[in-house]
Amino acid sequence: MNTYSFILLLILCSTALVLAVYALLQLIRKKDLAFMKVLLYKVSGREQKYRSYLKKHIKNTIDVWKDVLRPAVASDLDQDLLSEVDALIASHDESKYDDLEWQGYLDNFYPADEPSLTKEEVEIQFKYAWLHHQHLNEHHWQYWVLMEDDNPGKPEPLDMPIQHVLCMLADWASFRYGERLNTKYDGEFNSTREWYDANKEKQIMTDNTRELVEKYIDLLP
Ligand SMILES: [Zn+2]
Repeated sequence: MNTYSFILLLILCSTALVLAVYALLQLIRKKDLAFMKVLLYKVSGREQKYRSYLKKHIKNTIDVWKDVLRPAVASDLDQDLLSEVDALIASHDESKYDDLEWQGYLDNFYPADEPSLTKEEVEIQFKYAWLHHQHLNEHHWQYWVLMEDDNPGKPEPLDMPIQHVLCMLADWASFRYGERLNTKYDGEFNSTREWYDANKEKQIMTDNTRELVEKYIDLLP
């Protein structure tokens, strides 16, 4: 076989291989084989990107607590409380790996090239994911806002315990600490205080919670 026919054969074989793989992927998608989908998701770009973002965010939250906030508040707090925050921080945002939260955040922030949901469906799916996250995670001020049966127009904040305020602060500061997350918010604010000042009007908190937040916020990057 001469060189030209060899190259031609090689091109034909690789084209056939690409087409076969493509056909297989289409078949898997159409057949909705859940286990194969999981495999596909594992190697899909957006899934990887979101997984890596979430890992970095969690690591930055843990690191800013360990490196900055914990040393600064250690003399104020007793050992039990510090250990409680250590444990809470170690499981920061674990619920983001729950199916409902995972899919909602993934589709919203890392949209699929050919989404199976409409734009509106993605938005609603994300709202359920965010609601699930708020209701499960005490490090969000929304967790501590009571919606009374009789007074639906007036959400009532309750005091947020200090351990959860500290976790919330570490969460906020994580976006300005450690490895950059490459989100569109990178670089938008120079400090956690600056971000807080721009957003505090929207946060529903008691005076006690706010006092705690403002006591510690300037310690953060
Ligand atoms: Zn959270």
